[in-house]
Amino acid sequence: MLFLFGVRTSVLKEDYLKNTTCPHCKSKDSIKLIVKGNYFHFFWIPILPLNKTITAECDHCRRHFKKKEFTEDMEHSKNVLLRVSPAKRPLWQGCGCLVLTVLFTIVMSLSLYGVYTRSKDTKEKTIIQDPNYNMLISDFKTLNDKTLVTENDSISGLLRNCINNEIVSGITTKNIAYFSKSKGEKLLILLKIKDIKNITPKYRKDILDVIEDCLKQTQLNTTFKKHYIGIEGRWNTVLVRTPTEENVTGRFADKKLLLPFYNEQDQ
Ligand SMILES: [Zn+2]
Repeated sequence: MLFLFGVRTSVLKEDYLKNTTCPHCKSKDSIKLIVKGNYFHFFWIPILPLNKTITAECDHCRRHFKKKEFTEDMEHSKNVLLRVSPAKRPLWQGCGCLVLTVLFTIVMSLSLYGVYTRSKDTKEKTIIQDPNYNMLISDFKTLNDKTLVTENDSISGLLRNCINNEIVSGITTKNIAYFSKSKGEKLLILLKIKDIKNITPKYRKDILDVIEDCLKQTQLNTTFKKHYIGIEGRWNTVLVRTPTEENVTGRFADKKLLLPFYNEQDQ
């Protein structure tokens, strides 16, 4: 049976005891001193050095002697021998802790990395498999396409005129890029405001109110009852509001909240 941890023994020293006579078979200088070191192991890696045991064995009659059975000349010869060359433990019996720490760190890092990449994989896969998400991304990309920025549709045109009148400071309204798309009574409105950083984050959600206001003014809200609004800053989405959810801290918003716009059901 294998034990994954426990005490193991290794021979530290084996040498003949000089000037001794075997008390059993009386042969001369046939007794071998055996010093063993015990150590605690974990998965066969030595962790902690434990006690040493000293025994002897006669090469001639194979008789084994415990330390308390040593004769006087055996005891004396052993002391001389160990004084000249002590039975030292090899370094590896103590350094197991270090080895184990290193191994543990490697195993932990690998498994964490595995968990991380696996969760990333599944996350990316589910998003990629969602055609609505791809549509959302490509609609957002339209905002960056300079050829499409100017009045890409009539709704954007109406909104642009209204917003230009409503917002008079903070951001350069003529640089705002517009995108809109409708589906039944749902209306998707995307804006890219590169200089949104000029507005303090907590006031940024006012832009959403201006847009809602403009939808009323232009009476677009009578045709489109459900509004899905996303505002893109220079680097990321900063504001999102839908009929059911919103991210309006003004710093980071989850554009995926807009996905229900693309659902074919509930139009
Ligand atoms: Zn013997």
